[in-house]
Parts: sequence; structure tokens; C-alpha cells
Amino acid sequence: MQVLAVTSEIYPLIKTGGLADVTGALPLALEGQGVHVRTLVPGYPVVTSRFSKKKIVLQYPALQGGQASVFAGQSSGLDLLVLDAPHLFDRQGGPYGNMAGIDWPDNWRRFAALSQVGAEIAGGAIAGYLPDIVHAHDWQAAMTLAYMRYGRAPGVPSVMTVHNLAFQGQFGAGIFGELDLPGSAMSLDGVEYYGGVGYLKGGLQAASEITTVSPTYAQEIRTPEFGMGLDGLINIRAADLAGIVNGINTEVWNPETDKLLAASYSPRTLGKRSVNRRAVEERLALDHDATPLLCVVSRLTWQKGIDILTSIMDDIVAAGAKLAVLGSGDHALEGALLAGAARFRGRVGVVIGYDEPLSHLMQGGCDAILIPSRFEPCGLTQLYGLRYGCVPVVARTGGLADTVIDANEAALSAGVATGFQFTADNGDAFVHAIRRVIAAYADKQVWTSMQKQGMKADVSWGRSAARYVELYNSLIARKQGQA
Ligand code: ADP
Repeated sequence: MQVLAVTSEIYPLIKTGGLADVTGALPLALEGQGVHVRTLVPGYPVVTSRFSKKKIVLQYPALQGGQASVFAGQSSGLDLLVLDAPHLFDRQGGPYGNMAGIDWPDNWRRFAALSQVGAEIAGGAIAGYLPDIVHAHDWQAAMTLAYMRYGRAPGVPSVMTVHNLAFQGQFGAGIFGELDLPGSAMSLDGVEYYGGVGYLKGGLQAASEITTVSPTYAQEIRTPEFGMGLDGLINIRAADLAGIVNGINTEVWNPETDKLLAASYSPRTLGKRSVNRRAVEERLALDHDATPLLCVVSRLTWQKGIDILTSIMDDIVAAGAKLAVLGSGDHALEGALLAGAARFRGRVGVVIGYDEPLSHLMQGGCDAILIPSRFEPCGLTQLYGLRYGCVPVVARTGGLADTVIDANEAALSAGVATGFQFTADNGDAFVHAIRRVIAAYADKQVWTSMQKQGMKADVSWGRSAARYVELYNSLIARKQGQA
């Protein structure tokens, strides 16, 4: 089976969050299950510079205002199609914005171009390549399915995966004329959304099947509270909606072989984690003592509940724990965290920035990872935490609710607890959870057994990749039934 994936991020080439981890790991897992994935990605400088030879498979004299081509190549075990369109993607900064983090004003054009090319490849534009399924990820790729539906590949079965419904790609109606879609697409059942153009909305309408990244989030997005204005549409399409929890790349994230750790370890040698713990303490200027070291590795945003974290920082310190934070995002939240670090020297340490090696070291050295998200489609850091014996302490929402077993009395006595859950968006509940963590930490037997239980949990892609295969097969069978 041949699947064409379309995405704006793919690990290890370009990553701003969990989306990249998923699009980078899923193809490797699917390969083992008889599915070959080719992934179309934008030719950002960090992507094109990986390829010294470019095998051009498609050329555009004019694509959204400039010359473009698609070249094929392999990198890190991934089979890639790169949209080389310098006028759209050859820029300094991130995939969506400039160095200062301001979104590019022509993002609508950049990702329309990606999607248009995706749809044309789906329709057979590359000689000798015809995918059985097209799989679009998030709003940046969502219009692929609209372009397919409105003429470029109407019969090809498709999957739209929503990694986060908060990001929808909404633009003014004025861009429609430049999208190269028929006028009929600017309708309620097309790409029109509250008088403008909705990229994710258009993808949700056009997809054969919609998936999101955990069963709980799949239910949550059907409600006004989590639906972000799209719950009506998602409910209409509920028969074609599935929640498949993400896995992780268990080779990149393996405490037994991880070169980014100061010391690698296994469930049998958990004592070696103290070397990593010490390294984190040094790096963040934290006290070297026996109190629990809690960490946060996160985008610093309202979604992630970082304002709730800053509001309870005093309680964390008063309860006797230390806090290590790695993240970047909202400047006000960055400032509040840095102020906390200045106020509680030795007890709170903060690194502002994006630092992949440090994120590994923190998972490998800290005792627990705090994830107070208001909503969380899946969340990956709790899965890394499980695998690394860094006990997850999570808000009970979305994928966090689906992947962490709370240390309640029943779970503890059955020996199945892997972490702590608390009511989302509630500072008191968060503080209460931290007190539970500190109490459990004091009982070494309980704590070690939770760490080991977490490390045993299957967080690999195996089971979830099999669910995608089932889904792809069912869509192909549906299409054959219609023919
Ligand atoms: P989201 O995609 O919403 O940001 P996820 O938990 O799904 O959240 O994925 C976040 C990914 O980004 C994880 O791999 C996490 O380790 C990584 N990450 C987040 N912030 C940082 C940071 N400041 N430095 C390094 N890695 C980070």
C-alpha cells in the first residue's frame, strides 16, 4: 500500500512540536506493517540543505507567484518529496514565522501551494507514482483534501488528522480568488468558514475519514468547550471520526542507549538517573539535595496551563520540591517563570529556549514531569516521561487522560499506577496532586514501582500504526465498494 502524507513538519528535519514527532515516526512504524509512506514537505532551508543531489520529479513554471519544483530524496529512513519553492520557503526563521516569531503574512499562500502540489501528486502528477491513500496533517496540509475533492484527485481516499484543533488556518475571503479553486468551493460545505476561508475546515469537509490523536480528545472536540467553533461540523461527521493515540519513536527515546543523557540506564539500574539529575541541577543552578525534582518541558502557552503553573510556584517550593522548566512561548509567561527563578534561587530553575538535548536530559534525570494542560490532543512529553521513569503528573484531559494511570488506592494496590492525574484548569487540584507526588516520592518502594510500571507501558507506535493500517484498508475497501 502506498500512502502520500502531507505535512509542514517532520522530525528530524524540522520540528516545532509533537506534529513533527508523529509525522517522522509513523512512516517508520508503518513500513514494518506493509505500508510505504512518501511525505511531501516544504523546502525550508534546513530541509533542502540536507540534499546535495536533487532528483527533480515535478516542475512548476509558476506556483503561487514563483517557479517551483518537487524533488525526491531519502533522509533518516524517510522517503520524502520536497516542494522547493524559494519564494515561499527559502527564508530565515521558523516554518511559520520570522526570527521574532511573527507569522509570515503569506502563510495562506505558502500552505495553499503545498496543498495544491499534494493534490496534484495524489492525482498522478509524478510519473509512475499513484498513492492509494492521502494523509494530511493539520491545517497547513488540510487544503490538499479540498484541492483533491474539487478536481485534482476526487476519487482518492483520504485521512485528515487533527493534531490540535486550536490551529485552524483561518483567512479572509479576499484570498479565495488566488487559491485556484472553483467558485463552488466557497460554500458552507466547502472551504467557506464564517465568511472567510478555513483551511482545516475545508480539509474536515473533504476528508474520507477524520482522525485525532487520542480517543478522549476525539470525544472532547464534539463539545462546544473543546470544539473551537468546529464542533458542529465534527458532530455531523462523527461517523467518520476516530481517535488513535500517538506512539513515540522508541529508538530516539530509549534511556538504555540515549547519547544525550549524562548516564544511560534501564529499569534495573534506575540509580544511574542520579547522574542525569545532578547534570540538570548544575545546568539550571538548582540545589543538590534529596528533595523531588519536578520538571516542565513545554511550549509556554495558555493551552499548556503554564499560567496555572506560575500561580502555584510558591506552593511547589513551600511543599519542598524543586522545579526545572525548559520552554519558550508567550513572553509574559517566560517573564513570570524567570521572575520565579530569581525569587526562589536554587529551588526554581528556568531555561528559555528550544533545546532537544536538554529535553532528553530532563526526562532522564528529573523525578516527575508536570503537564497541567487545559486541553491536550495527545501530548508526547508524558509518553517520554513514562519511558524514562520520569513520573507524569497530568491534567485529566485528552490524551493525558488516556495514557497515564492515576496512583489512586486501587491502582497502587494492583501495582498498575504510572503517574498522577488531576482536574484540568484548577490550581488547587494541581497543588493537591503535587502533594501526592511528594508523599509517594518519600516511599521509595512505591515510587520505584511506579517508575518501573511506567517504563513497562507500551508507548511504541506498534498498536497505533496497526490502527492506521486498518483504517487505510477500510477506506480502500469502501472505495472499491463504491466503484
Ligand atoms: P505540542 O505539540 O502541543 O507542543 P506535545 O507534547 O505533543 O506538545 O509535543 C511537544 C514536543 O516538543 C515534545 O517532543 C517535547 O519534548 C518538545 N518540546 C517542547 N518544548 C520544548 C523545548 N523548549 N525544548 C525542547 N523540546 C521541546
